[in-house]
Amino acid sequence: MLCPCGSELEFSLCCQPLIKGVQTASSPEKLMRSRYSAYATGEADYIYQTYAKTSRAQQNLEEIAQWAAMTKWLFLEIHHSSEIPQSAGELPVVKFSAHYLLGNKYHKMTETSRFLQESGQWRYLDGDVSDSDEVREIKRNDACPCRSKKKFKQCCGR
Ligand SMILES: [Zn+2]
Ligand SMILES: [Zn+2]
Repeated sequence: MLCPCGSELEFSLCCQPLIKGVQTASSPEKLMRSRYSAYATGEADYIYQTYAKTSRAQQNLEEIAQWAAMTKWLFLEIHHSSEIPQSAGELPVVKFSAHYLLGNKYHKMTETSRFLQESGQWRYLDGDVSDSDEVREIKRNDACPCRSKKKFKQCCGR
């Protein structure tokens, strides 16, 4: 299968080795992509483990798992990834939109996320959700928001 993160690589050559823990993310964007792919494949544990320590304390593994399971993840759009900053105290960011379905409601969630390194590994610290979020009800005969060019009722709305 192709990687859910939209790289057009095989999952086994892209985010899966990171999720399985056999590889580590070489950049904040790679970590971000792998976290998205973990949501899409229901790997709540990986999502939990890749929070920075301070953020992880506010997370609940059960809730992550529930959220990942009730959401149908459509695709990921990366708008911008910053270079790894040279100066200390400045954190790299990745701006992305996650497109997903909750029931028959299509959501576009745009976030600018901050990343930091802990023991040499990239971790997700937190993010600012943009207020340009979109929520739209999808009718059965509408074009499917997953970009398949099929009708919703013949695609993700089945
Ligand atoms: Zn990937
Ligand atoms: Zn679809």
